[in-house]
Amino acid sequence: MSTIAFIGLGNMGRPMVAYLLKAGHQLRLYARRPEVFQHEAKPLLEAGAQVFGTPAEAAKDADFIITNVMSTADVAEVLCQGEHAVIQQAKAGAICIDHSTIDPTGTREIAATLAKQGIGFVDAPVSGGVKAATEGSLVMMLGGATTDIEKVMPIIQCYAKTITHIGDVGHGQVAKLCNQIAQVINIQGIAESMRFAASNGADLQKVFQAISGGMAGSRMLDLMGPKMVSRDFKAGIEARLHAKDFFLVKEAINKAHLDLPALQTVALQLEKLMDSGWGMDDTSSLLRVLEA
Ligand code: NAD
Repeated sequence: MSTIAFIGLGNMGRPMVAYLLKAGHQLRLYARRPEVFQHEAKPLLEAGAQVFGTPAEAAKDADFIITNVMSTADVAEVLCQGEHAVIQQAKAGAICIDHSTIDPTGTREIAATLAKQGIGFVDAPVSGGVKAATEGSLVMMLGGATTDIEKVMPIIQCYAKTITHIGDVGHGQVAKLCNQIAQVINIQGIAESMRFAASNGADLQKVFQAISGGMAGSRMLDLMGPKMVSRDFKAGIEARLHAKDFFLVKEAINKAHLDLPALQTVALQLEKLMDSGWGMDDTSSLLRVLEA
């Protein structure tokens, strides 16, 4: 069994920790908002996890340090920056595993900083959302050295079902952003088809039923179609997370002078969605942006 530091006990992090505890690992937790241990994360302490006051203290003596925070700046802060960062106390030979969705270039910089202290790094972003995290069936895309990947495999297999080693450090994040490009452009397409149906006075439920059996059928249509038809915009996938990822890709493609026109358009729609205050709602709210 391993000693594992886990930082970031949000919607995705908590079920992962629960699976690691169930597998018998020793868990050392850090949360930026310690009040979480009185509420949502209380069952993790009851199951044997220990709490520490800083990322550095949590990382001391850990074989693996797992982060599931938010942005590139958050991962850099927790792992590398300042007196409370993981790098201050993690032992040489430890391996960091990052499940956040962040920038591939920032990921490589973080990994290079850690490598100077003999600390390994694997980027391991996930797909499947809170549902797959809770069911222990996440899809995971890995970037890192093969020797590190072999070591982290028994850990991540506690909560991931489909695991693909894409390539070197950063390539897990590249694959995750590819996943986001394909899925959110699809959601925009579904929203546009629903908007077109409504503007022509067609029955949305019947249109959805018809096209889901044809070549437009997709897992995303199965998920988003019923939500748009019934105007249920409660989050399955919070739009703020898709917006964050789209703005990341937009910055990267602008830097690389890469022309991805559908992505640029959908990024603008996501910007309007966020400006309308629907960031905590579902990304099916792209339909509401078209209607506004
Ligand atoms: P969340 O907002 O529920 O949780 C994020 C947690 O990270 C919070 O507890 C927050 O306090 C902590 N955190 C953020 N910045 C921190 C910092 N600088 N130091 C310490 N703690 C910090 O978000 P989530 O849904 O759990 O998502 C986490 C990551 O996983 C994000 O990068 C997100 O894009 C990615 N992701 C989310 C989903 C999803 O469906 N929710 C799916 C795939 C990937």
